Amino acid sequence: MSVLVIGSIAFDTIETSQARKERILGGAANFASAAASHFSKVQLVGIVGSDYPEDWFAKLRSRGVDTSGVERARGKSFFWEGRYAPDFGSRETLDTQLGVFENYSPTLPRSYRSPAIAFLGNIAPDLQSTVLSQLEPGTVTAMDTMNLWLDMNRDLVFQLVEKVEILLVNDEEAMDMTSECHPMSAARKLATMGPRIVVVKMGGHGAVVVHEGKPFFAPGYPVELVVDPTGAGDSFAGAFLGSLAAERQIDRRAVNRALVYGNAVASYVVEHFEPAAVLEMTRRTILERFIYIRELIDY
Ligand code: AMP
Repeated sequence: MSVLVIGSIAFDTIETSQARKERILGGAANFASAAASHFSKVQLVGIVGSDYPEDWFAKLRSRGVDTSGVERARGKSFFWEGRYAPDFGSRETLDTQLGVFENYSPTLPRSYRSPAIAFLGNIAPDLQSTVLSQLEPGTVTAMDTMNLWLDMNRDLVFQLVEKVEILLVNDEEAMDMTSECHPMSAARKLATMGPRIVVVKMGGHGAVVVHEGKPFFAPGYPVELVVDPTGAGDSFAGAFLGSLAAERQIDRRAVNRALVYGNAVASYVVEHFEPAAVLEMTRRTILERFIYIRELIDY
């Protein structure tokens, strides 16, 4: 069972109150694939420029990620720069350069068209739509988005929301999309728009899910030293969907378990820079954090 992932494959420049890292590896699809690879096979779709290091893809392949759906084009890779507030409670985007993503039109290899789950990760909604139209019927579809795409092409984002079965967004986006002022009420409202499963991520606080009308909440794993929250949401999504793809059926138990796995993996991401850390996370660390969170819920 595999998870197809499309999204940005990027260089990031990150500024926190403690450090500044220039042009490190990032991108929604890198974080999501690295996280999903701990649970299922992954098929990665995207594009990079001639400036992107090949050894990153070799690392992904060594963890069972199929990278044959990644194109390499002449030009620059996607670039994003962000600055975090000292308490990591908010961040500001300083720069987004689409680079080779600007003229990209993904064509899925034949072997990519019927994954167990297709994740339309964070990238322009027209690219998400192009991938959606190439999937075989029966594929479970999931999507994420970001404030930039809601600002640029809100209508298309909402058209996609109507078509997918699983929606994962963060609390800010969920409230922006619904005009609700609580993550759970926003999740409930989004669930009336089409998706069978809506997950609203709340950073270090955890995440809520509404599955076929029923709500569930899982708290975050307590992290004492945040280094860089970049990619936490994407890694959450990768772990959530990878875990679901490994289940025999997507029922309430499987969804709630996936939510705990999402929180467990995301907590590790914020303690490190770059997606390589997610890829190298051990099974033992994932399980320890999973059990810790489960015990918080299972009084
Ligand atoms: P997250 O912290 O989970 O929201 O993900 C941040 C990652 O998404 C960074 O590594 C960026 O390269 C990437 N990113 C930032 N802005 C965008 C955007 N507008 N579209 C796609 N990816 C983005």
